[in-house]
Parts: sequence; C-alpha cells; structure tokens
Amino acid sequence: MQTYHTPLDLVRERSPERPVALVRPGVVAVAARWFQDSFQGDVFYAVKANPSPWVIETLAQSGVNSFDVASVPEIELVAQHAPGSRMAFMHPVKSRRAIAQAYFDHGVKTFALDTHEELQKILEATGGADDLSLIVRLGVQAEGASYSLSGKFGVDMWEAPSLLLAARRATQDRMGVSFHVGSQCMRPTAYQAAMAQANRAIVRAGVMVDVVDVGGGFPSVYPGMIPPDMSDYADSIHRGFAEMNVHEDTELWCEPGRALVAESTSILTKVELRKNDALYLNDGSYGSLFDAAHVKWPFPVKLFRGEGDAAQEVEGPLKPFRFYGPTCDSLDHMPGPFWLPEDIQEGDYVEIGMLGAYGVAMNTRFNGFGDAETVEVGDAPMASMFGLAGRNIRLPRERQEEERKVVRLSRPKGAAGKKGRKR
Ligand SMILES: *Cc1c(COP(=O)(O)O)cnc(C)c1O
Repeated sequence: MQTYHTPLDLVRERSPERPVALVRPGVVAVAARWFQDSFQGDVFYAVKANPSPWVIETLAQSGVNSFDVASVPEIELVAQHAPGSRMAFMHPVKSRRAIAQAYFDHGVKTFALDTHEELQKILEATGGADDLSLIVRLGVQAEGASYSLSGKFGVDMWEAPSLLLAARRATQDRMGVSFHVGSQCMRPTAYQAAMAQANRAIVRAGVMVDVVDVGGGFPSVYPGMIPPDMSDYADSIHRGFAEMNVHEDTELWCEPGRALVAESTSILTKVELRKNDALYLNDGSYGSLFDAAHVKWPFPVKLFRGEGDAAQEVEGPLKPFRFYGPTCDSLDHMPGPFWLPEDIQEGDYVEIGMLGAYGVAMNTRFNGFGDAETVEVGDAPMASMFGLAGRNIRLPRERQEEERKVVRLSRPKGAAGKKGRKR
C-alpha cells in the first residue's frame, strides 16, 4: 500500500481521478488496544464491518485474535490474513455445507443458532461433534440503537428456555447466550438491560451458561450522533455481568465491528459538477456512501483545492450541500447536509470521514464505478471515541444530550469557521 503523510499530500502529488480510500492502521490499533484494556473479556472482531485484509492483519498484530464471521468467504479471509486465530460462526442461519466446511476445513467450533432446526443442522453437519461451543442468539428488546438488529434474528424470550435447554444437552463443551442491542447504540445501559433479559431466560431454563456474548453495537462518533464515553459502555456491561446468575468461569465476550474500524478510513472524492447546492461526486451510495444515502447520515467533510504544490485545504464560509453519486440511479443521492465552503466547484476534492465501518465494505461495481484505490495516510481521524482526533467533534458530557436533540433538527444558518464546518 502506498503511504502519504496526509490526504493533502496525495492531492499535491497526483490529483487522483478515481475515489481513494484513505486508511489509518494505527487508528485501528488504538481502538483494539482500548477494547483489550477496558473490556474484561474476549474481543471478537465482527468481520462484516470492514473485511479489508489490512484491517484483519492490523487487529491480529494488535492482539485481537478472535473473529466473528458470518460466511465461508469471511472464514477464508481470516484464515489467510490472521492464520491461527479463533473464529466464531455467529450467523444464526447457515447452510449445512458452510457449517461442515467451517468445522472440518477450518477448525471452527463456535456456532450461533436461534432455532431448534438450526441446532439440528449444526449437530448433523458436524457429524455429531462433541466439542462444539453453541451460542443461542436471543432476541432482546433494546433501546437506543440507530440500527435495529433484532427484527431478523434472535429467539423470542418465551421460546428461549427450551432452546437453551436443548443446546445445553447437545454439547459437552461451552453453551452460551448472545444478543445484539443494535448498531451504533447510543445508550450504554442498553447492554445492562439486555443482560438482565438474558439472565431471566437462563434462570427460567434452569441451565448454566459458559459464555455471555454481548455482541456488537459499540458506537462511533458522527455529526449529530455523539455518544457517551466508551468507558460507560464497558461499565454497563461489567455491571450487567455481575448481576447475572452465572458460574465462576463463565466467559464474557463481545463482537465489536463499527467501533474498531469506523474512525480509520475516509474517502477522497472529486467534484465532477456543481448544480447550485448539489455536488456530483465520483463516489456515492453504490460505493462507500451507503449509510449517507440510505440512513441519511451527514458524515464529516473537508475540502481540498488545486494541483501540485498549490493544492491546499480550503475552509469557510460554509454552506450546506447535498451529494449525488456517479451512477445513473436517482437513489444515488446523499442528502447530508454536508457543510462545505460556499465557493466549492468542479475539480475540488471532498474528503468524507468516518467511513471505516459499513462504508468501504459496501462498495459495488454498479454502472462501472466503484473501483476505488486504497492508500495509507498518517493524519488523525476527523472524530474519535479514543481521543485521537486533532479537531475533535466530541463535546463536554453535559452538552451531549442537548446536542443529540438539536443537531439534526436545526443547524445554525451560515455557520462559519472550523466549528461549523466540523459539525
Ligand atoms: C454486525 C454484527 C456485529 C457488529 O456490530 P457493530 O454494530 O458493527 O458493532 C456483531 N455481531 C453480530 C452477530 C453482527 O451481526
């Protein structure tokens, strides 16, 4: 991978024609360190958030050697880039062939399930193996997530006890529970509440569990979505765990995706045309901007202008813009608002930050676009949960609640300067 000190250096050296993913492995390493130091349990990286080889390799080098995978290609990816690491197949619905390949070809022993039928499939496809770790995915009621992940998977709380009992009887090895409070969870107490629900199911089933897996959902920071401190999440989980009826050796696991990678990557895009407040970019919803289009997240932005040594970062006065991507689909629209200098024009470069999770991972080749190149840069992310951002968009704790309510609804008109630009 080519390396540049900053995104501006890249613009100066070669005015890229196609979108460029700007990646910061050091930022992933810092997030990995935080989880290992602050989470009192095992950390599995949810590969789907960003399956780039450099991410897998950086995590493995940083001590995160466990991976939450959902398909055979993800298993092969991890086997190739983090050989010898532990994998958990946490998709509750798998083909028999995928289960067999995971178990026999890759030594995967941990499988999630949320039905009796899937339990039967796992037992049959592994030839009645007696060394399986079986994790029952519970459908908990959780509040505070920006993306719900409980509609599709998870056994109902009233059906959970019989499934827990069946899983307990099916393995000599570990049996456990997992849940997912939803992605970008803004409320730390959601974990403690979910653990209380999991505990009720365990007690009702009258089983002992060996694993409590609190899933993913750990947030990152985006304009208008400024979460409480990461330590509040760890505290809520540790409190929840202490209140559960589990044995002394029960293991605590988590499966962060977003929080480990979101900050690490930005995208450098080029303005192909401006029509009033609409900017037509060379990347869009079929590239790295899925969330900007489909859940309308207003990612943070920076503007670079000029060529060669004359290229520079341009700041204020700012105006709200919306983006269109390069495909012919009118759904390829990112409403923002994205606050950029009001004189932005064709040929300018817009760096869009915080796209390391579910951004670069979602890239398609639709309409002949999506062929983005990847380079490494050494500057700080645009925002950080881990104290890394040069110009941090985090706010003092007492203002967070207020900010959450206000930012999406009304933005100061004509906001100018650094402060407005970053929000
Ligand atoms: C997507 C997913 C995760 C990661 O979720 P984040 O919100 O990105 O942390 C973890 N576990 C499972 C089972 C998932 O499907």
